Amino acid sequence: MIEPLRPSTTSSYRPRVAIHSHVKGLGLGPDGVAIPNAGGFVGQEQAREAAGVVVELIRSKKMAGRALLLAGAPATGKTALALGIARELGPKVPFCPLNGSEVYSSEVKKTEILMENFRRAIGIRVKEMKEVYEGEVTEWRPEEVEDPLEEGYGKRVSHVIVGLKAAKGSKQLKLDPSIHENLIKEKVSIGDIIYIDANSGSVKRVGRNEAYAKEHDLEADEYVPLPKGDVHKKREVIQDLTLHDLDVANARPQGGKDVHSILNSLRTPKKSEITDKLRMEVNQIVSGFIERGVAELIPGVLFIDEVHMLDIECFSYLNRALESNLAPIVIFATNRGMTEIRGTDIRGPHGLPVDLLDRCMIIRTQPYTLEQVSQILSIRAKLEGIPITEDSLKVLAEISSRTSLRYTVQLLTPAGILSQVAGREQVTEEDVKEADVLFFDAKQSAHMLAEQGDKFVT
Ligand code: ATP
Repeated sequence: MIEPLRPSTTSSYRPRVAIHSHVKGLGLGPDGVAIPNAGGFVGQEQAREAAGVVVELIRSKKMAGRALLLAGAPATGKTALALGIARELGPKVPFCPLNGSEVYSSEVKKTEILMENFRRAIGIRVKEMKEVYEGEVTEWRPEEVEDPLEEGYGKRVSHVIVGLKAAKGSKQLKLDPSIHENLIKEKVSIGDIIYIDANSGSVKRVGRNEAYAKEHDLEADEYVPLPKGDVHKKREVIQDLTLHDLDVANARPQGGKDVHSILNSLRTPKKSEITDKLRMEVNQIVSGFIERGVAELIPGVLFIDEVHMLDIECFSYLNRALESNLAPIVIFATNRGMTEIRGTDIRGPHGLPVDLLDRCMIIRTQPYTLEQVSQILSIRAKLEGIPITEDSLKVLAEISSRTSLRYTVQLLTPAGILSQVAGREQVTEEDVKEADVLFFDAKQSAHMLAEQGDKFVT
């Protein structure tokens, strides 16, 4: 359960990265050999080395039409490995996680959800020449103007005057109220170096002149920004988007099909349906951008966890979709052995049909030793700022052998709180044991239900 890697202005990301935030890459040496404890990874050397080979295949564009399957027991690092691959591919590579069961919705078709996620996992880097007002904020001075629509309601600030001081004098500009809002949203203050996008009105802080700020210690809402310097110029701005972002933008057209119009549509919060016709149009627009050198395609990673939750209809779709020119790198993960393929009465390895399995390169993850679990827990404890003794880590590792690694990773935080409440500087064995008594792991919970199921509402 993780969040995509790529920062974006438009996509709504789910904040789920926390439990894997220590994973920085695959931790391989220049020869592709796994360094025992590197990149946030402990052990799992063979799987990491195999994943390194896959990264090379992706880089040399030899993964087309194929997928990767990560198979292994729960909490053996399959999601961490998928994330490690994405990190190795670079920070701008989109990483789109999807859980197999997320395709089931009463409103949207399963294949539609898969298609949307395919397109979320394909990055487009658009180079845009933007007209920007650039300068240093030297003053704030909102001007009250009577707004005829607001008659009877008194005066309100509907315009702000922004003076742009060029090298040879100054110029006054009347700005749209939305820009004023953007200036406030960006928390612009005296001394900030900003630029205002002449097309969209968006405001960006690009630097700061501390000396000026000190000299003119003014109340922010008393004045209007008065940027000075080189005012009206063109600047290359790079936007990282996904095909899905463009689908959404194109579903609410605002005029032309040029880069400006498309990017401007992204900023309007109106929703309409994305149809196949619309997606084809977007593909054509993107091909045009690429041919003109305005955009670059960045295939990202679509990670489908618990792939055994998909059904035969989804598997047929995936078989076809993998062939497409615009397919991302698809990584599946499962912790199941021989399982029924959903939507059929046939059993298949990992719940996958053999024809799809045939397209997969398979990497197995191995269970961890107690020592390795201790090391993983120690990395997590450091990252979460939880001081913990070596002995407590050992106790946690032992608990994980009867529960799971994920359970003990999660137990770190409550154990940390218990130690704080008790006024201790480090988490002790006592805190760990107490936290373990307070919470149930999945197996205990299932066991309890088996014994006392009749006391629950069914
Ligand atoms: P499941 O089958 O239940 O989905 P999984 O195989 O995807 O599990 P992860 O979610 O990747 O397991 O691992 C559980 C936790 O342990 C995560 O916080 C993960 O980052 C961490 N982890 C797993 N393996 C390693 C490793 N080798 N090194 C460092 N951290 C690891």
